[in-house]
Amino acid sequence: MVPLLDPSPLPEAARALIADLVAPSVPRHQQVFVNRNLRLGGIEAIGFDMDYTIAEYTPAMETLQVRMTLERLIATAGYPKAVLERPYDPAFAIRGLVIDKQLGNILKADAHRHISRGLHGFRQLPKEERRALYRTERVSMRSDRYALVDTAFAVPETWLFAHLVDLEDSRRRPRRDPARYRRIYDDIRVAIDTIHADETLKTVIRADIGTYIRRDPALADALLRVQGETKRLFLLTNSLGNYTEAVMRHLLDGLRQDRPSWRDYFAAVVVGARKPSFFSSTDHTVALDDAFRPTKKRVRAFERGTLYQGGHRAEFEQLLGAHGDRILYVGDHIYGDILRSKTHSAWRTLMIVPELEAELARFDDAADAVRRRDALDARRRTLDAELHRHEELATELEARGHTQAACEAAVHVREHVVALREALRSTLAEIFTLNETLYAGFNPHFGMLFKAHDEHSLIGEQIEDYACLYTSRVANLVHVSPVQYFRAPRDLLPHELTHEP
Ligand code: IMP
Ligand code: MG
Repeated sequence: MVPLLDPSPLPEAARALIADLVAPSVPRHQQVFVNRNLRLGGIEAIGFDMDYTIAEYTPAMETLQVRMTLERLIATAGYPKAVLERPYDPAFAIRGLVIDKQLGNILKADAHRHISRGLHGFRQLPKEERRALYRTERVSMRSDRYALVDTAFAVPETWLFAHLVDLEDSRRRPRRDPARYRRIYDDIRVAIDTIHADETLKTVIRADIGTYIRRDPALADALLRVQGETKRLFLLTNSLGNYTEAVMRHLLDGLRQDRPSWRDYFAAVVVGARKPSFFSSTDHTVALDDAFRPTKKRVRAFERGTLYQGGHRAEFEQLLGAHGDRILYVGDHIYGDILRSKTHSAWRTLMIVPELEAELARFDDAADAVRRRDALDARRRTLDAELHRHEELATELEARGHTQAACEAAVHVREHVVALREALRSTLAEIFTLNETLYAGFNPHFGMLFKAHDEHSLIGEQIEDYACLYTSRVANLVHVSPVQYFRAPRDLLPHELTHEP
């Protein structure tokens, strides 16, 4: 038993002091989860990505992105105006899906790269079709045939792909071009790249920033709380200077009187960072002037209040004066922010996973069903083992069936086998029904972010492998002490488990 602090013998004023200082327990959806131990007291600098990390976009952003991409496809790639008729469905896709450019399919893969669910356009792939297509091959993310939906920016892109595949299939064409789905994918990519790069999208966002980016009053306190007395904060984003200025101003300016400008929070601000190549390139950092133009001034150390552009990780560490595992980087993009910083440097990582909020709420609502399902799972395993054991026993007895005793024993064990089989059948049926109810609250086509049936999903596995910590939003850091020790649950291999789970 852990001894609990009991302030009841104290006078009221003393009790009130303790009550004031003891933080209430943090709701699960705001907690920071731990894959690898991390001592925050040993961290010297905490860096933040901007888009979808510090800056949380509203659903209006996705609708805007979809409309602008379609308009671009109509204007420059010959798509018919009718593509605008179908309304965007924000609940269609989730992060972590895999697009099969060759076949026009959208797939959910598990950690072993097996496909557990899939759609062709908007049509559900029946189990037999899915198996026939993917049973013999594991999805290789190195192949150009597949693309991973790994940022929130790519979620509406997935709907666009389904939409245009669907439209393509509905047209009657005498001879179908085998490369048609891949061309759709490439057309969408080019259109999206252009609306991001030529400022079309960002001009609209900046003109009405409150509609597209949520302002969280808790952000300023969260940043200062986690910074503590000794750490420095930095911003490292792929967005360019003028856009970063507009977004950060919207998020932080005016939240605290002691920090009138967003720039006051950060010891270094690097825009146009070109992650992931930032982690491996040798480009040099340049300082920007007030109009966000590169200057020729040699950068010897970061100055507070100045914006810098580009550069690479080793130079960045030297300019900042903090190195390797003394740096914690907070980002939303599993590949560009988390995986590459982990594989090309010793930076520690915290991944922002907004989906956690809704998924945990759903699990909390269904806590009884989850407990019942886990108990049934354990029962299923026991029944399975018992069934096999008794089937072997019955066969063995039947082989010796020439004596009366062996015959009687064999019949008796066979009856028990029938009873076990029936118990297993009803347990499986109950698990199936419970799973259906449990999954009903998640994405109807692709289920949960972290799981694919009983396995980790592909992205669930990547988060476990590459993110030291993960949480649903940056503002959750308000609950974190700057010297907190994050301890991972002890990782057990199956043979280390002493009891059936
Ligand atoms: P970060 O997350 O703060 O590093 O910034 C992400 C930047 O990448 C934003 O400026 C986005 O506009 C940009 N971006 C996101 N998706 C795409 C894309 O598909 N093509 C080009 N730029 C993109
Ligand atoms: Mg980002």
